[in-house]
Parts: sequence; C-alpha cells; structure tokens
Amino acid sequence: MVKRIAILGSTGSIGTQALEVIDKLKDRFELIGISAGSNIPLLIEQIKKFHPMFISVKNEEDKEKLQKMFPSLYFFSGDTGLNKIAELPMVDMLLVAVSGKVGLKPTITAIENKKDIALANKETLVMAGDIVMKLAKENEVKILPVDSEHSAIFQCIGENKNVKHLIITASGGPFRNSTIEEMKNANLDETLAHPRWKMGKKITVDSATLMNKGLEVIEAHHLFNIDYNDIKVVVHPQSYVHSAVEYADGSIIAQLGIPSMHIPIQYALTYPDRVEGIETESFDFIKASKLEFFEPDYDKFPSLKLAIEMGKKGGTYPVCMNAANEEAVFAFLEKKIKYLDIYKITEKICDNYTGIINPTIDNIIEEDEKVRTQAGKIIEEMQVKL
Ligand code: NDP
Ligand code: MG
Repeated sequence: MVKRIAILGSTGSIGTQALEVIDKLKDRFELIGISAGSNIPLLIEQIKKFHPMFISVKNEEDKEKLQKMFPSLYFFSGDTGLNKIAELPMVDMLLVAVSGKVGLKPTITAIENKKDIALANKETLVMAGDIVMKLAKENEVKILPVDSEHSAIFQCIGENKNVKHLIITASGGPFRNSTIEEMKNANLDETLAHPRWKMGKKITVDSATLMNKGLEVIEAHHLFNIDYNDIKVVVHPQSYVHSAVEYADGSIIAQLGIPSMHIPIQYALTYPDRVEGIETESFDFIKASKLEFFEPDYDKFPSLKLAIEMGKKGGTYPVCMNAANEEAVFAFLEKKIKYLDIYKITEKICDNYTGIINPTIDNIIEEDEKVRTQAGKIIEEMQVKL
C-alpha cells in the first residue's frame, strides 16, 4: 500500500535527505504536502520534481508569489500553514523535520488527527515530551524516531522488555581533543566542522558543545519511558555504533552501520519494513578494526550535564534550557558572542529559573518566550562589552 507523506522542513538537511529516500522508493510513497522556511528556490525545485498538492512557506509574500507561479496548487504560510499541512486528511504520516520550537504545535495537531509521526525535531520532545507521548498513546499513533541514536535504540528494543540501560553514543564533536583554553577562541568554521555528520547549523553547534547529546538524553527518556539514571552517554569517535540497549539478563544489543542519516530516515518512513534504499557503503568490521569508547568529559562539555539536570527536574525546566541555549547558539552563529558564552548564557538563565511542573502547552509556549526575551537581553549586554 502506498504511504501518503507530508514533510515539514523539506528544504533542510533531514528534509532533503528524506526526499532522496522518497525518490528512491517511489512505489512506496506519495508526497502530499511539504513546507519550507525561506529557501524558496529549493522549494520550487522540489515542487517541480515531486508535485505535492499542498505547500507551506514561512512568509505570506512568498506564498503569494508561489501561488501565482503554481495556480493549481494549495499554498499556506506561517505557523498556521504548518498546522494545515499537519492536519491534511489524506496524509498517513508526517515527517517533522523543521528545526526549533515551530515543530511542536504541528506535531500535536498531526497526532490529534491520528497521523503517525516520523520525528526528527528534537525540540518537540524536549519541550513537551510528557504531553506529546501521552497524546500519542491516547490517539494510538506511532512516534518513529529519526534521530540516529533513537532509531538505533528503537531497532534494538523491538518488542523486548526488561531494559536495564540505554547507551547513547556521541561522536564527541570537533572539540573532543581540544583544551578549554583552545575552545575559548573557537571560531564559527571550527565549530561547524563536525567530524562525522553533515547537518543543519544549529544542531552542528550543539554537537560541538555536546548539548545535542543532552537533548538526546531527554528525547530518549520520553520516547522509551526510561529513567534518566538508566541512560548512559558514551563517546564513540568512529560513530559506527549508533546506540545500544542493555537488558536485565546482561545482554547488550547495539545497532551499527556507517554514519548516514538516510538509514534512520528511511527506517522511520518504511517501518516496519526493511527495504533496499539509497545505496550506502556497507559497514566493514575488518576495515573499521577499531571501535573506541570513552567517558564524556563533563568539565569540558558542561552543557551535557546541564541538559541532563534540567531534564531530571522535568516540567518547564528543559523548556528553559532549550530556549536559552537556542538563543545563545543563534547569537554565536551571528558572531555576536563567543563560543564559550553559549554555555555561560544558558547556565545563567537556568540557575535563576523557577519552572512549572505539569505545564500545559500554553504554559510551555509562554515560558519559552519569556526565556528567549531574557536571553536576548543578556546577549545584548554581552555584545556591548565585547
Ligand atoms: P536545517 O536547519 O537543515 O533545516 C530546518 C528546516 O526547517 C528547513 O527546511 C527550514 O526552512 C525549516 N524551518 C526553520 N525554521 C522554520 C520556521 N520558523 N517556519 C517554517 N520552517 C522553518 O535543520 P536539520 O535538518 O539539520 O534539523 C531539523 C531537525 O531535525 C532539528 O530539530 C534537528 O535537531 C533534528 N535532527 C537533525 C539531524 C541531522 O542530521 N540534520 C539529526 C537528528 C536530528 P528553510 O531552510 O527553507 O528556511
Ligand atoms: Mg543524533
């Protein structure tokens, strides 16, 4: 049976790779809707190649321009546009591959409309994991992880019970072997030079600070309903072991492969089937020869510790941490602050934060905005001093 798909964030790193998967497996999928932010030239190429009927863009002006170019298609814009794509009645599965908090509301809309979710957007679970997972259960929809570590764990868990630990691997990022002194002067190019994965800029910076791994621990806690104390992070520079699960009987099941996002994206889209998709080099145990594992250095990468602490506190604490970090990362990408300031800002805001336990979605959105305003002020003050 053909699966009818919509993609939020079709012009991004995950979105474009998902389209490559869909293109390769044309017989299995029909692309009904896509959404982009501001990359209109790429969006136009995608419309011409994949012929989706429903399209959303960030700005109203872009929407009007596109509507004139493609009068027979349906265009939407802004946050309401993302929601429109999420609730299209003819869609079976929504791939949420936008970056940032804009992913949250449309994911909820899609769940309420009984669509399975292929989830790349981490912020959705970091901000509202309790609410989203409960809603998914009530509506009997599947949340299929796209993040490679979570896809790995999902594949290792299957129907198994009695999980003792989740073991999440981290490449260690570009500063794995750098000293704190060297990190003080880290520039944007060095920070964006990830040794293993090619991804969007926000997540690439988070991979350098290891905040990304912290977000992934929170994501894993919600997806697999595992206590934070039973989730271990292990640095594995080769990135062949994508994560593992340890069971009560002492067995550990790991998922391995070459680092390629096509594989977890495809698995989420074709689940439960495993099919031949985009050709990738196969993992060769002999050639790989060496798989190394290290304990993360929490002094050099304090963001990881902070994220786990805020995750454990629950409620809106991870919302605060996520918003503060995201604003700081954007400021770093705009060269307004230095690399180590990302953590300093996030920590300062988290230290002074009093959160809400058992928040509603409205509480979450309000807290997120409050923290972003606060972060904006701190960043402005820092810039004056730079
Ligand atoms: P990118 O920055 O490459 O892409 C983000 C996508 O979201 C683009 O299509 C962008 O549109 C769109 N977008 C951004 N802001 C808005 C907005 N306000 N309204 C509408 N659309 C918007 O990110 P990635 O693909 O790297 O990551 C996407 C998500 O997946 C993130 O949450 C990330 O953490 C997660 N993820 C990514 C991985 C990866 O390998 N890249 C791995 C695991 C998880 P445009 O470009 O047109 O402006
Ligand atoms: Mg990941």
